[in-house]
Order: sequence, then C-alpha cells, then structure tokens
Amino acid sequence: MRGRRRLAPPGNGLPDYISAMSAPRQLTEMRLPDLGYNAYLCRYSEIALKGRNRASFERAAVANLKRLLEGLPLSVRRERGRVFLQPEPPGDTLTAGVVEALRRQTAKCFGLVSGSPAFLTAPELPAIEAAVDRSFGAVCAAVAAQLGEGMPIPYAMRARRSEHRLGMTSREIEIHFADRLLTRHPCLRVNLDNPLLRVEVEVRREHAFVSYERFPGPGGLPACTAGRVMVLLSGGIDSPVAAYLTMRRGGAADFVTFHSAPYTPPATVEKVARIVRILREFQGEGTLYAVNLAEPQKLIRDRCSERFRTVLYRRLMLRVAAELARRREAAALVTGDSLGQVASQTLANLAVISAATPMLVLRPLIGAEKRETMDLARSIGTLAISEEQVPDSCTVFAPANPVTKAPLPLVEAQERRLPPPDELTRLALAQTTRVNVDTLETGPLPPDPAAAADTGRD
Ligand code: ATP
Ligand code: MG
Repeated sequence: MRGRRRLAPPGNGLPDYISAMSAPRQLTEMRLPDLGYNAYLCRYSEIALKGRNRASFERAAVANLKRLLEGLPLSVRRERGRVFLQPEPPGDTLTAGVVEALRRQTAKCFGLVSGSPAFLTAPELPAIEAAVDRSFGAVCAAVAAQLGEGMPIPYAMRARRSEHRLGMTSREIEIHFADRLLTRHPCLRVNLDNPLLRVEVEVRREHAFVSYERFPGPGGLPACTAGRVMVLLSGGIDSPVAAYLTMRRGGAADFVTFHSAPYTPPATVEKVARIVRILREFQGEGTLYAVNLAEPQKLIRDRCSERFRTVLYRRLMLRVAAELARRREAAALVTGDSLGQVASQTLANLAVISAATPMLVLRPLIGAEKRETMDLARSIGTLAISEEQVPDSCTVFAPANPVTKAPLPLVEAQERRLPPPDELTRLALAQTTRVNVDTLETGPLPPDPAAAADTGRD
C-alpha cells in the first residue's frame, strides 16, 4: 500500500498523459465559444523528456510544431517542460479558426500529449482570478445550454504549479478557486472523477495559464529523433499504420512500394503516393521509392514451385528494401505483418522471410487485431484510401494455395533456380524510381553513395 502511494503522482493520481486521454473528453466534444484566448499551451509526453536528451527532444518537438503551424499568426515559446504559442502580433487573441487549426495540427505533432487554448496571465493570484472571472460565465453558459437549462454541471478545479510563487500549494489554489466559483455559480456540482467542465490553472515561474479544454495530442517521441527506417508500404490497411506507429516513436521513415507494371495499373503506385502524402504530414519528409518487380516475378513464376511464390516475392522485397535502406543509412525495415493474418504471416514464414536479410525487420502490428488497426488507420486518415480496391503486386501470379510453413532449406533450393539474390536485387533496383508524391512525377534512383565513394577512391 505504501509502495503504491509513493508511486502515485500528485494531482488526480494519474500520470499527466493518462489523465489527458481520459478526463477532458466531453468538453472537447462540446466545443466552447470563442473566448478570446491569448495563448495555446502544449504538454509533452513525460517519457520524451527523461534523461540527458531532454533539450534535444524539446528542440525537435518545437521544430516539428513550427513546421505544422507554418502560416498561422503565432509565435512559439519553449519553457522547461512546456511549449506555448502566442498570437502574432502580441496582444492579439486567438480566433476560433486559429484554435481549430491548432487543435488539428497539434494532433499530428509527435511528443505532445495534449494542448489547451488558454489565458496567459502574470503568475499572481489577482491576475489569475481576473482571467477566470472574465471567461467563466461564458464557459458555464455554453455548457449549460448544451446540457439543458437547470441541469447541474459536473465540474472540477485542477491546479498545478512548477514554482512556489503564490505561497500556496496546488491543493490550496484548487480550494481557493473552487470556493469562489461554487459560491458564484450554484449550477456547479463537484465531480472530480468525471467532470464535464474542468478548470485548469497552471502556475509557472513567469506565467500562469487558465484553460478549460484539452485537445489530445498523439503522444510518442518527437518526429525523426530515433534514426531512419525504411517502411515497406503496400496500398493495404496495415502497413500505413505500422509506419505511423514507428514514426510516433521517433523513427524517420522513408517508404518503398512494389508494383508489377504492366500487370498492375498506375493506380497501384498512385494510391500509395496518396498514403505517403498523409504520413509525411507527421514528420515533414520521407521519400517514396517504387520498385517494379514484374521481371523477377516472371522468373519466379517460370522457374519455381507455385506454392512458394509469395514467400519468394517477400524475400526479394526485403532484400531490395534493405539495399535502399542501406543507401539511406536506415537501420531497420518496417512491415505491416500481423501474426497469422495471411499465409505469409505464419511464424514459420515470417522467420524464413526475415532470414533473407541481416537487417533488423520491425513489425509493429505483430500482435494487433485487424479491428484495432482499422481504428488507428481511420484516425490517421489512411483507411479510406487503403480500402479503395486497386490491384496489388503480390496478387500478380499469386498461388491459389501458398505454403504456410516453408522450411528455409526448401526455399533456398527454390532460389537456386533463380539468378543469385544480388543479381535479382540489381534487376529490381534498375526498375526503381523515386516518386514525387505531390505531382506523382517519377525520377531515377540516385546513384549509390557507397559506390560513388568507391569510385572516388580509385
Ligand atoms: P497491408 O494491409 O499492409 O498490405 P496485408 O495484411 O495485406 O498488409 P500482406 O499483403 O501479406 O499483408 O503484406 C504484409 C506486409 O508486407 C505489408 O504490411 C507490407 O509491409 C509488405 N508488403 C506487402 N506487399 C507490398 C507491396 N506491394 N509493397 C510494399 N510492401 C508490401
Ligand atoms: Mg497487402
């Protein structure tokens, strides 16, 4: 019991990032009127800020936030553990349109757990009281109108302070404001577990913030802080979600898709390009490579047993992806495999497929249920595109009855009927383009930097 107590953080007993997900949901859905906020407070994920890397994580999160907010009349300020935005020019208030854009854009900023439009004041009691008094009536009226006139409003007062500025503890600040509000607004009913209206006061060294709404952020670690990965991106539902999850942990993603023109239509690659457009929003970069596998697939069709085709395609895909990854200095491949979903995703087949390359293969969806993956795809914004019916490279010459448990020696025996793996990889790379996902124009694969360096040495 005592151990449990010690672990429990102050406040409502939940870590910030958990209460951010659960507590303020209802008010966010209700939407408040334009209150004339003068700031927007962003909260980081706690994990991002542990240890020596804190400053660089913060800088990365801020840089990404600035990119996402480009064009909005805002300035970005960073203080230890918090980022907040202020209207430009100073003294302006945030319009409802800007608040809405902030809600939308900060939801894409990895590393943020929540954001709140807020009143920024001096960290003094009278200034905070004035900010609450100025806005609370309108907030209360808006909630009452939506709940039904005369209905009690479940309410909670929450305070945090990073400084002992007011000579009051967080609890004392809460009681102070609760007393004021409850006497003036008899419609309020204290409900700490499930408040509909939550007043938050945060007191820091130089400022205080008063807020009523929390918009959820995606959490995770700031974009592009964990090294590069190469995502094998099909037009399906799973691989975009696998990409998102890896990017959310800081992986900087490039993408490779395999098609089989002329057996697959141009729409196959276009569909993937549209998915990349959405995924790139989260990190602001990412190259798409499109590899035409038709020629190697024909060799596999003509020389190998039909039942092994899918496994052989997959091993080739991994080898080609690993070569592209090496050129991009990526440390891992990412796939959307989920255990047992299809024949190529049995444990035995996954092992045989992985054995095609020494490169680390990450499978973030290995234990995911399709339903969960679809929910995530919906919230990322890729589901509708993924559900469009477009032929996929893997369905070209697909066997009716693929092996579910392909022993490695048998697979290797099949591969000996083909040109050596390096040669097949080169053949595929010769049919690889870089796709501009905005214009859909394609360009040649740039020369291998390692090969260029070798030539330079000669
Ligand atoms: P997805 O919905 O991501 O297509 P899936 O359930 O259809 O996955 P498979 O078709 O077996 O499963 O593919 C497993 C994984 O292999 C994919 O998630 C993706 O990472 C990779 N993959 C399959 N086909 C392609 C392709 N044409 N281009 C790039 N990667 C592919
Ligand atoms: Mg697929």
